[in-house]
Amino acid sequence: MIKINENYQKLSANYLFAEIANRVTDYQKNNPDQKIIKLGIGDVTEPLVPSVIEALHKGVDDMGNRESFYGYGPYEGYEFLRSSIADFDFKKRGININPEEVFISSGAKEDTANFSEVFSQDTKIAITDPVYPVYIDSNVMFGRTGSYQNNHYQNVLYLDCTADNQFKPDLPKEKVDLIYLCFPNNPTGQVATKKDLQMWVNYAHQNKALILFDAAYEAFIQDEELPHSIFEIDGADEVAVEFRSLSKTAGFTGTRLSYTIIPDKVHIYDQEGHSHQLNKIWLRRQSTKFNGVPYIIQKGAAAVFTDKGRSEINQQIQYYLDNAKIIQEGFRSLDIEFTGGDNSPYIWLKTPNSISSWDFFDLLINQCQVVGTPGAGFGRCGEGYFRLSAFGNKNNIREAMERIKKLKIC
Ligand code: PLP
Repeated sequence: MIKINENYQKLSANYLFAEIANRVTDYQKNNPDQKIIKLGIGDVTEPLVPSVIEALHKGVDDMGNRESFYGYGPYEGYEFLRSSIADFDFKKRGININPEEVFISSGAKEDTANFSEVFSQDTKIAITDPVYPVYIDSNVMFGRTGSYQNNHYQNVLYLDCTADNQFKPDLPKEKVDLIYLCFPNNPTGQVATKKDLQMWVNYAHQNKALILFDAAYEAFIQDEELPHSIFEIDGADEVAVEFRSLSKTAGFTGTRLSYTIIPDKVHIYDQEGHSHQLNKIWLRRQSTKFNGVPYIIQKGAAAVFTDKGRSEINQQIQYYLDNAKIIQEGFRSLDIEFTGGDNSPYIWLKTPNSISSWDFFDLLINQCQVVGTPGAGFGRCGEGYFRLSAFGNKNNIREAMERIKKLKIC
């Protein structure tokens, strides 16, 4: 008899966004004439920029010629892309990252999820609450989290992010081995200063721990004082891995390309305490389970790391940040508390009259035909909060906010 991996039975029935999609489909079925505005899933809406399209076309042409045709590529990505990333994203900002420390992949979702398998089963993990659900669910699947009771997995240390700590996690009192951090944060839109990150890097050094730093939204940072990379912090190149993605940076959610930075100096330990270079282990994993991102996509991605490509992309980021301003102004006028939106595409708001996040979801879809994401879906501390995303067409965002302003409960 074929048996299920028991760990899968510990997962909540539906992935959060699948649950939202089901509810929206039900609403639409019962109300076919209503125009729904979706500000729920953080998916981009603007098309790929001209530089990327041009480079993708070039990649297609290359594949049509025997001389420039490519079959299987390197597991870790083509050298042309790895060096452009090392130069453009890091060296230009004074951060010493070499192409050999860059691993090209097809998504930060995949990489943040897959990464958990290279650590021992008894690795003690710390995650923020609320959190991007992939970090926790991937550890559940791996069998590291223990059972689920009172909205928490027993073997996981949750770092509560609430209004009291400005949605920034405090250091754990106990010792943990693996810490997931994400800034600018999904879902709260909160950002970390250099001082905040230094505190975590110091903790990791003191505890021989590792930080998995998700920088999927770094391109939205406008404030020049804020770090774009954890590697701007002293000592981080010994204790951190950084995940970046072109999904939100350059509209690649459907095209798929991300990159993970694993500095040579990062080591993890075996039972005897001997150290092993993490990027070698990751390469071993990738070469077994992954056959690389398509050449055409890597060609297109390389255009993002040019001055022309970057200036086109920056205009798109500005477009989304202007949307965020419209949302912020709407909630300010309603006296609703929120964070995010200045250096992030997400606005995290306190539900009016303290109603539950899923009740607010139902209210918004029924009264305004606006879809957002209930904070409770991101963890226990998300209850009473709601996430709206600034990805979308400006006119739709304006219309959504006009509708929300007429909400009875507000
Ligand atoms: N990390 C965070 C924090 C995200 O919010 C998302 C997508 O919403 C991802 C990673 C996934 O990125 P990708 O599209 O590269 O898989």
